[in-house]
Amino acid sequence: MQGKSIGWEDTIVALATAQGIGAIGVIRLSGRQSFGIINRLFPAKDLTKQASHTLHVGYLKENGKVLDEVVVSLFKGPKSYTGEDVVEISGHGSPFVLQQIIQACVNQGARLAKPGEFTQRAFLNGKLDLAQAEAVADLIASNTEASRKTALHNIRGGFSERLKDLRERLIKFSALIELELDFSQEDVEFADRTQLFELLAEAQQTTQQLANSFQLGNVIKNGVSVAIIGKPNAGKSTLLNTLLNENRAIVSDIAGTTRDTIEEVLNIDGILFRLIDTAGIREHTHDVIESIGMEKALAKMQQADVVIYLFDVNEITIAGLQSIVDELNAKKLKYILVGNKADMAPEASLREKFSTIPGIIFISAKAQQHTEVLKEKLVDLVLQGKIQTDDTIITNARHYHALQEVLQSLIDIRNGFENKVPGDLVALDIRRCLHYLGEITGEITTEDQLDYIFSKFCIGK
Ligand code: GDP
Repeated sequence: MQGKSIGWEDTIVALATAQGIGAIGVIRLSGRQSFGIINRLFPAKDLTKQASHTLHVGYLKENGKVLDEVVVSLFKGPKSYTGEDVVEISGHGSPFVLQQIIQACVNQGARLAKPGEFTQRAFLNGKLDLAQAEAVADLIASNTEASRKTALHNIRGGFSERLKDLRERLIKFSALIELELDFSQEDVEFADRTQLFELLAEAQQTTQQLANSFQLGNVIKNGVSVAIIGKPNAGKSTLLNTLLNENRAIVSDIAGTTRDTIEEVLNIDGILFRLIDTAGIREHTHDVIESIGMEKALAKMQQADVVIYLFDVNEITIAGLQSIVDELNAKKLKYILVGNKADMAPEASLREKFSTIPGIIFISAKAQQHTEVLKEKLVDLVLQGKIQTDDTIITNARHYHALQEVLQSLIDIRNGFENKVPGDLVALDIRRCLHYLGEITGEITTEDQLDYIFSKFCIGK
């Protein structure tokens, strides 16, 4: 458990629903005085005598003045979100009325909650660990199906479970290694080295897998940047409009993006695709390749996770397309070759004409033909068949960095044993590893370690 923050004893209050006018607004109270505060504002009955998880309709009154007619929900701790006594007041959704109710709660002794304080309390009360608490924030920010699923999986403890298991097993070994240090004169080995190496290898694999998932996690959370590139008149702006008509995403702010370079976002199968430099496409200032030269075009493309190279099937030569393919390959870009204006030629003849260059998708941006094939290909390219949202996927940079440290310390532990480094130095690496694992879920490792030694081995020191 973490150290208790200042103000922990306070009862806190805040609007739980969005600011602005709505049909209803929900105000949340959490803390020891929650029931007392609401009771003083709710004359109809004694709410302190009501059962937990019940709803009560009535007027809220302060100094004889009716504030609103509300529904009050009661949640007695520890069976509540924060683990404390929680009251939710559903009032009519006028910002003015809701503000008055909040003020009345403050007059009765509540304090305004700090950002995230309800979830922080849930963490401090052991309702959620840190990784789960962070997933709550991700869920609230999620704007696609995939990001919702991933966050929900992690709130339910998907990520934490895997780390917990790993950590418990490492703690066990660490306890044995520490024990060996106590008996260092006698040259005994309590920890079975074969098992230890197996555990290290497995831990390394799990950690690597989790760390690798960050790339996908980042995609799920922040989207994939896509550049549509091609000669003037290839049909870039037509394609852009077609895609936007079919899949324009409703997004708020996306982390790490700037308004001037990114204008439009698509939501395809729950993945966000950010079409970069759409202004350039519209204004024809980025009719790259020809107008500003290959180098500049490639620089542009290199900012993108995926490049759509669009060409007019009736205009391009095989040699010309091949040289572009060579460039794209040389720069190791992820790209899709899209032959546009396929409505103007029979498909069989196109296949024949371009038979030496595999993987081309033939579409008609104008007639909106086969654009679904392009969209499928985009999703495939990003996920590469590896998305299972039941899998644990890291979406949080803090977790990713901690996992990198875990990985490095696992390597150091292994090297330590292999090179017969003194036990106390290896023990340091093990502690470092446990520290970073614990840092993700918010546990304090040294106490656990000691607990483990005493509970399992009763060495009675
Ligand atoms: P950009 O310069 O690459 O942005 O190309 P535009 O989107 O402005 O398109 C250039 C011209 O090609 C316009 O006259 C479009 O109507 C036409 N065009 C675009 N896509 C297609 C298509 O799929 N089939 C046909 N026949 N014409 C198209």
